[in-house]
Amino acid sequence: MAPPETTHTVTDADDVLRRVFGYDSFRGAQQEIVEHVIGGGDALVLMATGGGKSLCYQIPALVRPGVGVVVSPLIALMQDQVDALTAVGVRAGFLNSTQDPDQRRFVEQMFLAGELDLLYLAPERLRSESTLQLLDRGKISLFAIDEAHCVSQWGHDFRPDYLNLSMLHERWPDVPRVALTATATQATHQEIAERLNLGGAKHFVAGFDRPNIQYRIVSKAEPNKQLLELLRSEHQGDAGIVYCMSRASTEKTAQFLVNNGISALAYHAGLDAGTRARAQSRFLREDGLVIVATIAFGMGIDKPDVRFVAHLDLPKSVEGYYQETGRAGRDGLPSTAWLAYGLQDVVQQRKMIASSDGDDNYRRQLTAHLDAMLALCETIECRRVQLLNYFGQSGEPCGNCDTCLNPPESWDGTVAAQKLLSTVYRLKSERRQRFGAGQSIDILLGKQTQKISQFSHDQLSVFGIGAELSEGEWRGVVRQLLAQGMLMVEGDYSTLALTPESGAVLRGDRKVLMRREPAKAARPPKQSRTAAAAVEELSEEAKPVFEKLRAWRGQSAKEQGVPAYVIFHDATLRQIAMQAPTSLQQLGTISGVGENKLAKYGQDILDTLGEALDRPGRAAPAEPPAELDFEEPPEDYPDEEPGDYFPPE
Ligand code: ADP
Ligand code: ZN
Repeated sequence: MAPPETTHTVTDADDVLRRVFGYDSFRGAQQEIVEHVIGGGDALVLMATGGGKSLCYQIPALVRPGVGVVVSPLIALMQDQVDALTAVGVRAGFLNSTQDPDQRRFVEQMFLAGELDLLYLAPERLRSESTLQLLDRGKISLFAIDEAHCVSQWGHDFRPDYLNLSMLHERWPDVPRVALTATATQATHQEIAERLNLGGAKHFVAGFDRPNIQYRIVSKAEPNKQLLELLRSEHQGDAGIVYCMSRASTEKTAQFLVNNGISALAYHAGLDAGTRARAQSRFLREDGLVIVATIAFGMGIDKPDVRFVAHLDLPKSVEGYYQETGRAGRDGLPSTAWLAYGLQDVVQQRKMIASSDGDDNYRRQLTAHLDAMLALCETIECRRVQLLNYFGQSGEPCGNCDTCLNPPESWDGTVAAQKLLSTVYRLKSERRQRFGAGQSIDILLGKQTQKISQFSHDQLSVFGIGAELSEGEWRGVVRQLLAQGMLMVEGDYSTLALTPESGAVLRGDRKVLMRREPAKAARPPKQSRTAAAAVEELSEEAKPVFEKLRAWRGQSAKEQGVPAYVIFHDATLRQIAMQAPTSLQQLGTISGVGENKLAKYGQDILDTLGEALDRPGRAAPAEPPAELDFEEPPEDYPDEEPGDYFPPE
């Protein structure tokens, strides 16, 4: 590890935090990380989304001499990241394939002249010798490797160019590196350390809990209606993301929401780059837009006020689920992670794994990922405890997830399981025919359908022996047996089949505990999660002031072509509305108001407050801010997305 080589002290870091970013104190492990990197040490940072990873490299880059080089796969977001830094007075630029040679040359010259604090680069840039030579000619303060889990080959966001990043250390052994990710199973953690050659790095593993997110997993009946009910009752007018597996269902669902008066857009890798860029840009800039997307959407989106993330299909892994849901509530305000999950999800995913390319080892990995996800869905314990355990951390029942708020019961499903497995066994012995879950359930319920009489299934000894459960409950039994590996699906028709585990259940050697869905979830708990909730906590007098400030912010953001949160976060505007500062000096003490923003917007804010509160004083004539030349974010995502492996519905 390189010895400390700077004359700066940590008070500089405090200074930067306060004066540039306008924050009073570091959060969690930030200070320790910042000090370590300023001292020249390598760091591997695992921190939940919204935990504050950016400052961990931005502040050292400002304190250490030279330019901080940030490697990020998020080309489409570089412009916004640079805008957000520019807004606080940090000199930032990026180099990626979207620029024309002149723009690129301009940034390169700034870099060489030492006129940048931070330079964002796409990982593929580092393949080219010319970029490497450029970096050689400048002074680099540190390398930040953002979204470091992209180096993990089995992970869900693998980027081959990340493997190449191990050379940073060989080529620039004295430049500290900080790798950051919000994805943190033990396996990924190890893999990042190994593949990025971070042997000597200090590891910082922050708590992974996101206490402001309420986790809820419901059983899927009519998913679109269930979603609509959620949005109408709890998230009217809120911005959110809805994830679906297939491209077709994103479009159908978006249309359904639009037909029901909700402003929604579809987003998937099959849309052309321009359409996607516009969708992303609108999501960042407009209030209350819902994006219905495949997983191609969202990585690195740092919109702080996403109020809900809904999944209409089962994610393939807990990692993916946690990362996707983590996009809700970065601002720390109450948010919802909601997933609808049903029998068909299990069937589809098991089938997809069975037919996937790749060797047995790969299929085993997929299965292990899916099993962990299913265990989360079927748990009767606190969801958060289970999630944290998965990431190797412990926790107490949280009081802010569906199982805590409305505990499901477990019931002894052994007999039901035996009945179902016997039926499957009898059907399986009819070698020529193949039947799915529906037929077994009809047999158990004793239904006289055409298919029952056609195959004389009413003659089976199991016919009609399951009338004690409803059709929905039987589907729950099938789903849970599939989830627990006591049943499997085979072939193209999703034929149910026994597994090696089934025998013990049939013989009565194994008890099967099942989860009973709680009757319709009680009204959402104490905290309401609407955008209005943020306003509700404000006093009566402060409310209209907050709304005025938001309107001012919306207008300024539009004029400058930046997302509203680049100007000020909701949390900052709320503080301003509540404290109603009367001077620039008072305004400057509010969290989120740094020197640059104070200089740029301070008077506007005071004027807006003056109008809102009917204070005497000058209302300066509104001077139109200079029009910034905003570029549409360009294409970013690889063409393929896992959702595409799904057969069309
Ligand atoms: P991450 O990259 O880990 O998801 P960010 O770096 O985007 O998180 O930070 C999340 C939010 O928290 C941002 O809005 C950021 O401005 C805010 N934040 C970060 N550190 C602090 C701090 N020390 N004090 C107040 N707010 C902070
Ligand atoms: Zn809980």
